[in-house]
Amino acid sequence: MSRSRALATEAVLATGNAGKLREMAALLAPIGLRLIAQGELGIAAAAETGVTFVENALQKARHASAAAALPAIADDSGLVVPALGGAPGVRSARYAGDDATDAQNNRKLIGALADIEDRSAWFYCALVFIERPEDPAPLLATGLWRGRIIDQPRGGGGFGYDPHFLVPHLGRTSAELAPEEKNALSHRGQAVAALLQRLRERSEGP
Ligand code: IMP
Repeated sequence: MSRSRALATEAVLATGNAGKLREMAALLAPIGLRLIAQGELGIAAAAETGVTFVENALQKARHASAAAALPAIADDSGLVVPALGGAPGVRSARYAGDDATDAQNNRKLIGALADIEDRSAWFYCALVFIERPEDPAPLLATGLWRGRIIDQPRGGGGFGYDPHFLVPHLGRTSAELAPEEKNALSHRGQAVAALLQRLRERSEGP
């Protein structure tokens, strides 16, 4: 027998990125969860000091949940290149320095891979939901998207490392995909779908 349990109806999203808010709000609306961006509540970004994407996502979620007194959702994502020992990893946004642009990060990536044959890489996304800052049982969902790094950038869509991330079975970079195509395949799309499933399961019991 399954018992149903009231799910939160509002949660703060720990991001300052308007694109992420739009995308996540649309995906979570069907289960009746309304998202409020932390910036709208005047909440500043949390420090990200974790070694893993999961730790950083939890740090961001706890910070937003405590400041807003609401349940919180947070994500952390980046590019992992095994031949570079996992770099840029959790430092993806700051690979070439704290205020680095995408172009600077991409230049550093291509330079680091100059003499390296193994170009395999993946994007990874960790997404968490907590009901309150001390929630001992966060809902956790992850996504992983495999590709290869190419030297010459291609495509005008996406952001970050997308122009250098070749999706082998399509023969296109992630910057050459339409937004819906990218969402259907990407690390973030996979993590959001998995979180949605976990939220449904939690609301259904036991
Ligand atoms: P964050 O999860 O918004 O902190 O993203 C961290 C960084 O990882 C971004 O600034 C990008 O450099 C990189 N990144 C994460 N997801 C993507 C993606 O879908 N395409 C390209 N770069 C990404």
